[in-house]
Amino acid sequence: MSTSAHPSADAIRTGPTVTDRLVEANERYAAEFTDPGMDARPVLRVAVVACMDARLDLHAALGLELGDCHTIRNAGGVVTDDVIRSLTISQRALGTRSVMLVHHTNCGLESLTEDFRHELEDEVGQRPAWAVEAFRDVDQDVRQSMQRVRTSPFLLHSDDVRGFVFDVTTGLLREIDPA
Ligand SMILES: [Zn+2]
Repeated sequence: MSTSAHPSADAIRTGPTVTDRLVEANERYAAEFTDPGMDARPVLRVAVVACMDARLDLHAALGLELGDCHTIRNAGGVVTDDVIRSLTISQRALGTRSVMLVHHTNCGLESLTEDFRHELEDEVGQRPAWAVEAFRDVDQDVRQSMQRVRTSPFLLHSDDVRGFVFDVTTGLLREIDPA
């Protein structure tokens, strides 16, 4: 990391932080906002599980509107126990039926390995309980993610689970055959 591109902590404290900018943007947003009068149940009855990648604008890429879907994001769009927790609540308490998984090209997890955990242990004296969930083959990672959703005993609906790779250079989705 280049230090010149990152002001020191002291410099950050003297000026507005990025969070201050976001809070200001929210004031402008709220000034234009009118209560949509929506219920919490997603209109399209779909939950989208996606990578947190900053280049993936899910709502724009999928033509989603406010209120349409549940969005569950983490590093890699990995189907962890916590993602299953959210999907279970999404389906059982809030009526969704379909699950869409979105991984993408050029993911940060492709350049990591499980050594990341051991390096953390060397640095801080404690190995995290969680897996890094690094992968080499994005298609295979989508396939195994679909499997994790389909085989979860907690979900009510596992018949409509589809997985995709979003190309960060073209904006196009490519569907992954589950077989
Ligand atoms: Zn990613």
